[in-house]
Amino acid sequence: MNKPWELYPQFWKTEAMYLSWIRGGIRRYLWAKNPVKLEFVKEARVMIQNPNVKLRKGRPKVWGGVCEICKKEYILKNMEVDHRTGEYSMRKIEDIQKFVEGIVFVRKEDLALLCKPCHKIKTYSERFEMSQEDAAIEKEAIAICKGKAPAVKLWITKRGETPARTVKERREQVTRMLKEGK
Ligand SMILES: [Zn+2]
Repeated sequence: MNKPWELYPQFWKTEAMYLSWIRGGIRRYLWAKNPVKLEFVKEARVMIQNPNVKLRKGRPKVWGGVCEICKKEYILKNMEVDHRTGEYSMRKIEDIQKFVEGIVFVRKEDLALLCKPCHKIKTYSERFEMSQEDAAIEKEAIAICKGKAPAVKLWITKRGETPARTVKERREQVTRMLKEGK
């Protein structure tokens, strides 16, 4: 088979870019408009107290949901629908079939309503095969280490340690410190 990204490099420079274009198309139509998913959301949503204090007077209740992981209430806009069993990744052309099936064969019992932070952590834990606790710590360490070097070093020294020399070592140090509850 002629590979589309080789035939038309002006459209897709690499296989990864080609796959990203397919994933986007599937997500924006087959997933966003999947009637099974939409009905799941309709059944799972509940009226919650309007978290926006200013708007609460005129509109005391809004549509929201309870996150299945952290059990907190969120407005629907801040929630996402998760595949309980883990989403199929699409890293190679051969993955297309499985990826599409995961979207079009979905059943309501396969779905869960999660808040965005919990969904990110769950997806990360599945991708790197670690516990959700460890994934939450990794995410936090990534956020801390996104700052400039002096800020990261300050974070470390403030908690009583000497910062490691390289970016990579500091990232590992922050992860360990978070695990130790520092
Ligand atoms: Zn949550």
